[in-house]
Amino acid sequence: MAETLFSKIIRREIPAEIVYEDDDVLAFRDINPQAPVHVLFVPKTPVATLNDLTDADALTAGKLVLAASRFAKSQGFAENGYRCVINCNRDGGQTVFHLHLHLLAGRPMHWPPG
Ligand code: 5GP
Repeated sequence: MAETLFSKIIRREIPAEIVYEDDDVLAFRDINPQAPVHVLFVPKTPVATLNDLTDADALTAGKLVLAASRFAKSQGFAENGYRCVINCNRDGGQTVFHLHLHLLAGRPMHWPPG
Protein backbone atom coordinates (compact mmCIF):
# COMPACT_ATOMS: atom_id res chain seq x y z
CA MET A 1 0.00 0.00 0.00
CA ALA A 2 1.06 3.61 -0.52
CA GLU A 3 2.35 5.21 2.64
CA THR A 4 0.12 7.84 4.25
CA LEU A 5 0.68 10.63 6.73
CA PHE A 6 -0.37 8.27 9.52
CA SER A 7 2.87 6.29 9.06
CA LYS A 8 4.74 9.57 9.43
CA ILE A 9 2.84 10.29 12.65
CA ILE A 10 3.70 6.79 13.91
CA ARG A 11 7.39 7.49 13.20
CA ARG A 12 7.07 10.95 14.82
CA GLU A 13 8.07 12.63 11.56
CA ILE A 14 5.04 14.90 11.71
CA PRO A 15 3.45 16.12 14.93
CA ALA A 16 0.23 14.87 16.46
CA GLU A 17 -1.28 14.92 19.92
CA ILE A 18 -0.68 11.31 20.89
CA VAL A 19 -2.99 10.08 23.65
CA TYR A 20 -2.42 6.32 23.69
CA GLU A 21 0.25 3.88 22.56
CA ASP A 22 0.99 0.19 22.94
CA ASP A 23 3.09 -2.25 20.94
CA ASP A 24 0.54 -2.48 18.12
CA VAL A 25 -1.59 0.65 18.19
CA LEU A 26 -1.07 4.41 18.23
CA ALA A 27 -3.88 6.87 18.99
CA PHE A 28 -3.87 10.62 18.43
CA ARG A 29 -6.40 13.46 18.33
CA ASP A 30 -8.06 14.17 15.00
CA ILE A 31 -6.91 17.47 13.47
CA ASN A 32 -10.54 18.32 12.59
CA PRO A 33 -12.54 17.04 15.58
CA GLN A 34 -16.22 16.18 15.11
CA ALA A 35 -16.90 15.87 18.85
CA PRO A 36 -15.28 17.15 22.08
CA VAL A 37 -13.26 13.90 22.05
CA HIS A 38 -12.20 12.68 18.60
CA VAL A 39 -9.29 10.25 18.61
CA LEU A 40 -7.95 8.11 15.76
CA PHE A 41 -6.67 4.61 16.60
CA VAL A 42 -4.28 3.26 13.98
CA PRO A 43 -2.44 -0.05 13.72
CA LYS A 44 1.32 0.45 13.64
CA THR A 45 1.50 -2.13 10.85
CA PRO A 46 -0.37 -0.39 8.06
CA VAL A 47 -3.39 -1.87 6.29
CA ALA A 48 -5.12 0.36 3.72
CA THR A 49 -8.79 -0.37 4.34
CA LEU A 50 -11.15 -2.75 6.12
CA ASN A 51 -11.35 -4.63 2.80
CA ASP A 52 -7.65 -5.48 3.06
CA LEU A 53 -7.84 -7.23 6.42
CA THR A 54 -7.11 -10.95 6.31
CA ASP A 55 -7.25 -13.66 8.94
CA ALA A 56 -3.62 -12.85 9.68
CA ASP A 57 -4.74 -9.37 10.82
CA ALA A 58 -7.36 -10.64 13.27
CA LEU A 59 -5.21 -9.87 16.29
CA THR A 60 -4.38 -6.40 14.98
CA ALA A 61 -8.04 -5.61 14.32
CA GLY A 62 -9.03 -6.83 17.76
CA LYS A 63 -6.29 -4.79 19.41
CA LEU A 64 -7.55 -1.66 17.67
CA VAL A 65 -11.01 -2.10 19.18
CA LEU A 66 -9.64 -3.06 22.59
CA ALA A 67 -7.37 -0.01 22.64
CA ALA A 68 -10.37 2.26 22.00
CA SER A 69 -12.38 0.57 24.74
CA ARG A 70 -9.47 0.80 27.17
CA PHE A 71 -8.96 4.48 26.36
CA ALA A 72 -12.68 5.24 26.88
CA LYS A 73 -12.59 3.61 30.32
CA SER A 74 -9.38 5.39 31.29
CA GLN A 75 -10.85 8.78 30.31
CA GLY A 76 -14.06 8.29 32.28
CA PHE A 77 -16.62 8.53 29.47
CA ALA A 78 -17.17 4.82 28.91
CA GLU A 79 -20.33 4.73 31.02
CA ASN A 80 -21.91 7.74 29.32
CA GLY A 81 -21.01 6.20 25.99
CA TYR A 82 -19.17 6.95 22.79
CA ARG A 83 -19.09 5.99 19.14
CA CYS A 84 -16.49 4.07 17.14
CA VAL A 85 -16.45 4.40 13.35
CA ILE A 86 -14.31 2.86 10.62
CA ASN A 87 -14.87 4.47 7.22
CA CYS A 88 -14.13 2.29 4.20
CA ASN A 89 -13.41 3.60 0.71
CA ARG A 90 -15.34 6.27 -1.19
CA ASP A 91 -18.91 5.67 -0.06
CA GLY A 92 -17.75 5.15 3.52
CA GLY A 93 -16.05 8.53 3.48
CA GLN A 94 -12.49 7.27 3.90
CA THR A 95 -9.87 9.88 3.04
CA VAL A 96 -6.70 8.44 4.59
CA PHE A 97 -5.85 4.96 3.36
CA HIS A 98 -4.25 3.61 6.51
CA LEU A 99 -6.92 1.75 8.49
CA HIS A 100 -8.11 3.75 11.48
CA LEU A 101 -10.90 3.70 14.02
CA HIS A 102 -12.51 7.02 14.98
CA LEU A 103 -13.52 7.28 18.63
CA LEU A 104 -16.02 10.10 19.20
CA ALA A 105 -17.27 11.14 22.63
CA GLY A 106 -18.30 14.03 24.83
CA ARG A 107 -21.67 14.75 23.26
CA PRO A 108 -24.80 12.75 22.38
CA MET A 109 -24.46 11.01 19.00
CA HIS A 110 -27.38 10.76 16.61
CA TRP A 111 -28.55 7.92 14.41
CA PRO A 112 -28.72 7.58 11.45
CA PRO A 113 -25.44 9.43 10.97
CA GLY A 114 -26.24 10.79 7.47
P1 5GP B 1 -11.25 9.18 7.24
O1 5GP B 1 -12.03 10.25 6.51
O2 5GP B 1 -10.18 8.58 6.35
O3 5GP B 1 -12.11 8.16 7.91
O4 5GP B 1 -10.53 9.92 8.44
C1 5GP B 1 -9.32 10.58 8.30
C2 5GP B 1 -9.22 11.53 9.46
O5 5GP B 1 -7.88 11.99 9.54
C3 5GP B 1 -10.09 12.79 9.30
O6 5GP B 1 -11.04 12.84 10.37
C4 5GP B 1 -9.10 13.93 9.34
O7 5GP B 1 -9.57 15.06 10.05
C5 5GP B 1 -7.89 13.31 9.99
N1 5GP B 1 -6.62 13.89 9.60
C6 5GP B 1 -6.22 14.20 8.33
N2 5GP B 1 -4.99 14.71 8.35
C7 5GP B 1 -4.57 14.71 9.65
C8 5GP B 1 -3.36 15.12 10.28
O8 5GP B 1 -2.40 15.57 9.67
N3 5GP B 1 -3.31 14.97 11.63
C9 5GP B 1 -4.36 14.47 12.36
N4 5GP B 1 -4.20 14.37 13.68
N5 5GP B 1 -5.50 14.06 11.79
C10 5GP B 1 -5.62 14.19 10.44
